[in-house]
Amino acid sequence: MPVKTGAPPDIGTALADAVSMFDATLTGVQDGDWDTASPCSDWSTRDVVGHVIGTLCKVALIARGEPTQSAPSQPGDAAAGDAVKAWRDAAAAARTAVAEADPELQVDTPAGRQNLARALAFPVSDVVVHAWDIAAATGRPLQLPDSLLAHIVYTCAQVPEAALRGPGRIGEAQPSAPGADDTTRMMAWLGRDVERWATADGAGAPANRNAATDSAELLALDRAHVWHPFQPMPGVDDQLLVTEAEGVRLTLADGRRLIDGMSSFWAAVHGYRNPVLDKALAEQASRFPHVMFGGLTHEPAIRLARTLVDLTPDGLEHVYFCDSGAVSIEVALKMCLQYWRSSGRSEKRRMLTWRRGYHGATLHAMSVCDPDAGGHASWQGLLPEQVFLPAPPASSATSLRNATADPTRTEGEQIDPEYVEAMTRTVAQHADELAAIIVEPVVQSAGGMRFHDPGYLKVLRELADEHDVLLVFDEMATGFGHTGALFAADHVGVTPDVMCLGKTLTGGYMSMAATLCTTRVADGIRRGERPVLVHGQTFMANALTAAVANASLGLLVEGDWKGDVARIERALRRGLQEAVHLDGVVDVRVLGAIGVIELDHPVDKRMTEAAVDNGVWLRPFGNLIYCLPPYVCTDDDIARICAAMVAAASVGADPNPPRH
Ligand SMILES: *Cc1c(COP(=O)(O)O)cnc(C)c1O
Repeated sequence: MPVKTGAPPDIGTALADAVSMFDATLTGVQDGDWDTASPCSDWSTRDVVGHVIGTLCKVALIARGEPTQSAPSQPGDAAAGDAVKAWRDAAAAARTAVAEADPELQVDTPAGRQNLARALAFPVSDVVVHAWDIAAATGRPLQLPDSLLAHIVYTCAQVPEAALRGPGRIGEAQPSAPGADDTTRMMAWLGRDVERWATADGAGAPANRNAATDSAELLALDRAHVWHPFQPMPGVDDQLLVTEAEGVRLTLADGRRLIDGMSSFWAAVHGYRNPVLDKALAEQASRFPHVMFGGLTHEPAIRLARTLVDLTPDGLEHVYFCDSGAVSIEVALKMCLQYWRSSGRSEKRRMLTWRRGYHGATLHAMSVCDPDAGGHASWQGLLPEQVFLPAPPASSATSLRNATADPTRTEGEQIDPEYVEAMTRTVAQHADELAAIIVEPVVQSAGGMRFHDPGYLKVLRELADEHDVLLVFDEMATGFGHTGALFAADHVGVTPDVMCLGKTLTGGYMSMAATLCTTRVADGIRRGERPVLVHGQTFMANALTAAVANASLGLLVEGDWKGDVARIERALRRGLQEAVHLDGVVDVRVLGAIGVIELDHPVDKRMTEAAVDNGVWLRPFGNLIYCLPPYVCTDDDIARICAAMVAAASVGADPNPPRH
């Protein structure tokens, strides 16, 4: 059996295996050996057994969620009299306690709060270490079962690499590096011997050895070579290493399991390893993965286009498949530019948008992002210069601070006449040079998780029609239910000329986006000198991706997404209420399956850590702690996400903010 090191083996199995291995080593101990010192340390075998009994008492206490200080600490005493019987009693008690333990238990350890498997990993390894002691003292080889080897390799992988290069004998353990505790010293010793065991019994040895430092090594390689979004190179932030994900939970290399409060960034709404999506992927893989889309076509793409036309607002009839969100914005802008060029009005080439927008990271998409956040000043001459309105006024209807906030708010009540006036003036003033108005409807996500009244979309539609400008809705984030309507445009029944979709489209499995347009736009482009849309991509309409997207939309349409989002909205309102009165909290707002805590200070790493300590993955940014939970979250999952957000918000402002 190959040793699997990606995830921690079940802690109950590891304990059982450690116990039987330790037991096997005791059978060879001669009467005279009990009280002579082991060559590995100055402990006698009786001391070692006594120490292991103490460790097992600790295991039992940890498994019951009790403080561990009360465990016996005098090695010799614990194994006085019949050492083997005392040891077997302790082992039985520890195994019972672990079998009855709540696997979700959070345990306070010197290294911080940990889940049960993590808190027990070291004590279980400790039992193995001492089996090694006795085997060495009695001159016999030690056979490690694969499950235990995996457990130890896994546990060692949690230790910083520097510690693994530490001293080779427990008795010689050097004074630890600053901050390292006994556990680290012990694991340093363990790490060395994992190598020896792996080499000695030859079972898949090289792979095992490598695995011991897999996580540490991978993360070092990650920092050296892999660029993460909006981050420097080499990397400075430690990323969390994900090894598995199922349902709404991510499993990290160190065994921690986190509820994904971000749905992989507005995407994995049906959860990971969803059987329906997995099946769609496998079935398509058994036919063909991809074919070029120039001159060839296929059922998954055709069906997907038809479904999108059916689901989106009436009038959007034609679908262009893209391989990412930013590309679908490029395509949308190109459609608008080509439309006016084909209509003989090529002077209409600027875009109008409001500030605080985000539309993707490619250059033309960047030109319509918020000019301050996008640093437009430093890109002068490179980015097309667009027309900007102030950011739309934020709606207060979604704020939990607002005692009268009503989640079933009536649309159009919060329109600010002055802002409408500014919109009207600006569109009229630039009408001759404007190709399109492009906005994120209802939610400005990257621009601050700001919600505005959907009534402004109606105003934009009227202005666009009146002044002969096209209207583009970027529903990459808002599409497929997040705001409580299937599309943000549905809140007010407005059809844009062009709509961009992505993120949730594939249920978070793969990258795909789509740009939809009306027949007016398609016809306009066709009338031109060059009647084609001048755009193409190698992996357009990838069949695997389209098959998964079809399955994902099937789950949405046939399931109760509306009920789920409404249920999550209620649970978020309940769970985040507590945050309203926290120090440093400016606003708490909820719209559909989106929950936001806005702070009066910037977020920092400690807030992510607080969330992770609470078993939840969040990615705070700016001065926002927010969540976009998968629709398959239970109420209990949402309560945990809210608790993690509140814990993160309670961290407070950084007393020593980094200086730039
Ligand atoms: C994420 C996002 C994009 C960009 O999509 P990518 O797939 O990251 O390129 C564009 N617009 C909005 C509103 C988004 O949320």
